[in-house]
Amino acid sequence: MEHCSVCNGYKGERVELKEGDTCEFCLIKNNGSSVRYSTKKGKLWKIWGPDDFTVMYRKTLYRVNSVSHPDEPSPLSVALSGLCSCQEKQP
Ligand SMILES: [Zn+2]
Repeated sequence: MEHCSVCNGYKGERVELKEGDTCEFCLIKNNGSSVRYSTKKGKLWKIWGPDDFTVMYRKTLYRVNSVSHPDEPSPLSVALSGLCSCQEKQP
C-alpha cells in the first residue's frame, strides 16, 4: 500500500504474506501492573487462519492474531490514516 498525496489515506493492494516471510507483529508485554505494546520484526512461522499466526522472534514463537508486511502500513496505521477515497470521488 502507499500513501495518497491528495488525501493522505492509504491506497493500493495489501501485500499477502506467506510462511517464511519477514513480518511485523505486535508484541504485548504484561509485567503485572502495565501492558505495553511494541511492534517487532519477526519471521512468519505458521499461518493457522486469517487472524491466527505464529511468529518466530528471537528464537521464541509467539501466537499472534495479526501480522503485517514490513513494507506495508500496520493495521493500526491504516486505521489512523484511513483509506484513500479519491478514486471513489472521480468518475
Ligand atoms: Zn486519496
